[in-house]
Amino acid sequence: MRLSSFFMPTLKETPTEAQIVSHRLMLRAGMIRQTSAGIYAWLPLGYRVLRKIEQIVREEQDAAGAQELLMPTIQSADLWRESGRYDDYGKEMLRITDRHDREMLFGPTNEEMITDIFRSFVKSYRQLPLNLYHIQWKFRDEIRPRFGVMRGREFLMKDAYSFDIDPAGARRSYQKMFLAYLRTFARMGLKAIPMRADTGPIGGDLSHEFIILAETGESGVFCHKEWMDLDVLKDAPGMEDDLQPFFDRVTAIYAATDEKHDPANSPVPDSDLVSARGIEVGHIFNFGTKYSKPMNAVIAGPNGESIPVEMGSYGIGVSRLMGAIIEASHDDNGIIWPDAVAPFNVGLINLKSGDAETDRVCAELYAKLEAAGLEVAYDDRDERPGAKFADMDLIGVPWQLVVGPRGLKNGVVELKRRATGEKEELTVEAALAKLL
Ligand code: ATP
Ligand code: MG
Ligand code: MG
Ligand code: MG
Repeated sequence: MRLSSFFMPTLKETPTEAQIVSHRLMLRAGMIRQTSAGIYAWLPLGYRVLRKIEQIVREEQDAAGAQELLMPTIQSADLWRESGRYDDYGKEMLRITDRHDREMLFGPTNEEMITDIFRSFVKSYRQLPLNLYHIQWKFRDEIRPRFGVMRGREFLMKDAYSFDIDPAGARRSYQKMFLAYLRTFARMGLKAIPMRADTGPIGGDLSHEFIILAETGESGVFCHKEWMDLDVLKDAPGMEDDLQPFFDRVTAIYAATDEKHDPANSPVPDSDLVSARGIEVGHIFNFGTKYSKPMNAVIAGPNGESIPVEMGSYGIGVSRLMGAIIEASHDDNGIIWPDAVAPFNVGLINLKSGDAETDRVCAELYAKLEAAGLEVAYDDRDERPGAKFADMDLIGVPWQLVVGPRGLKNGVVELKRRATGEKEELTVEAALAKLL
């Protein structure tokens, strides 16, 4: 992408309405635009990152055996009356009436709809286990939307739903998602701690919230200090293995949200207890037959008996993750994207657009890098070098390749790693070899 034609409306000033660093940086980098309270348009740079995050989530869901489908955003109120949640959900639900006076709603989650799809088609235990997911926009009329995409009203969520014949099967489905979540967040360079959580209005008996520690987090959380430098995925089993020992090992290390943590009965002595703030980026539930019973989602068991299906649901805040990643990875100059979710792999900075030799070498590098499948932000704009450096740092591209007439006279270009600030002078060939 040539930045001279890329729609990236960066801001020089720090927007005053943004209270936390991730929101400020997303606005300054021209990634999002608020269109109503808690509702955002994703501008090209932001959308590139959103798709990267989404893709990692998708790959790990697929690897865990979940199957992707796509359900609509608009749902019928009748389904929610069947589960009894239409009245319970309260003001967070955006209710809509169509021209025939039918009551509809913009889905805040999809348990009812997926249960309806399930009961329409799945009749036998032989068709289980089954896990279906989608990545779709949700709407919750949050009383206080804030912190940008972190607590939006419209937001992108991955939600998966598992169906099993019995509680043992449901536990295995839960453990698969538990492992998939750890893998997903680790791939994004995040340390997400699974914490025992309240099951809340969705109900059920087994639930974990995946929490990123950050001062700006909205939840109070407690965990054993062992979590601080633990690589949980070291020696992690494969998806087809027995996951119980791994699950037991990880969940034995104390971690709980403030709703579950009881200071009077803390299993961890104060000297080993970390008390912190956290951002909830994922949440998994095993809720048994809470929906299948009232909605009559039953299957025929091995002896022909009718069994309400055992269910679980598993959410990831795809759009919230973007804010969480920035909270975890930035410096005074801007965002530092982990490689896996960066909007571009390489930022190519032309220090003197218009200088024939500099333009030629840049065009050649740009073509070669793109041909090798790398995504390149080529800053060919007619701007001062200082402005180009500042913008490239701000948008957080992991590698910066700097090309100017002075260096070229000596046969070198400069390669900078955004995360560490380390710079290296290399020949064009050596720089290419390092990036490819
Ligand atoms: P919160 O406690 O932050 O209100 P929640 O517990 O209501 O979240 P869940 O119903 O567990 O949310 O939804 C699954 C995931 O969706 C959450 O873990 C979070 O990452 C994301 N999410 C929920 N609400 C929002 C929101 N308003 N904006 C962005 N992401 C959200
Ligand atoms: Mg909520
Ligand atoms: Mg919550
Ligand atoms: Mg939750």
